[in-house]
Amino acid sequence: MQAGDSNAVDAGEDIVVFSILKPSVCAECGVELSKGALLRMEQEKPLCLECADLDHLVFLPRGDTALTRRSRKYSALSAVVVQFSRARRRYERQGLLVEAPALERAEKECLGDEAQRRIARERASLVRERADMRYVAQFAEQIRSRYPGCPPGEAEAIAQHACKKYSGRVGRSSGARAFDAQAIELAVKARVRHEHTEYDRFLARGRDRTEARSAVARKVADVLERWSKA
Ligand SMILES: [Zn+2]
Repeated sequence: MQAGDSNAVDAGEDIVVFSILKPSVCAECGVELSKGALLRMEQEKPLCLECADLDHLVFLPRGDTALTRRSRKYSALSAVVVQFSRARRRYERQGLLVEAPALERAEKECLGDEAQRRIARERASLVRERADMRYVAQFAEQIRSRYPGCPPGEAEAIAQHACKKYSGRVGRSSGARAFDAQAIELAVKARVRHEHTEYDRFLARGRDRTEARSAVARKVADVLERWSKA
């Protein structure tokens, strides 16, 4: 799972409420729940929020990290709202149900230190950006030293891609691991396969990935051979 997947649900102990895609009926009061309504599953029975005793909570859509964290902190009772994503075949977090006074208190606090938090965010993103630039430059340098015949721009493009790929998974401190010979070879190979062979066209035509790889293996080897000479 990648870093950008913070919407994937790992609710743990939280009460989970489903935003439904298909109409349902509350097992207790019989009310009809239309698409988009919220329900809680209790012992495999769907319950409307009223019957689940959650109807006094208010919905806070996801997106504002500080507001979410504070609302949850001040809310004695809260629930995570999830919805099934057909595209990604998993439940995704839509927001929280929290107590109205908790949300109000959180909103007040967030307004109070908004400027401070904006500065902290900007500083953090600047630090990340610099680390990224350093990482890309180092990676490109390594590629050029192993593949001196690599055309200008290719090494940077490969390094940019590797940076994106590793930045979420490996902590920046252990990012050096990505610089080992094998990682560099894999990154260069992948680039050559996609950019300098028919590989992508094969895939687009629905050809099996393994088959497509072996079909272009010779071509990839030739390009690598050329690039490894100055
Ligand atoms: Zn009900």
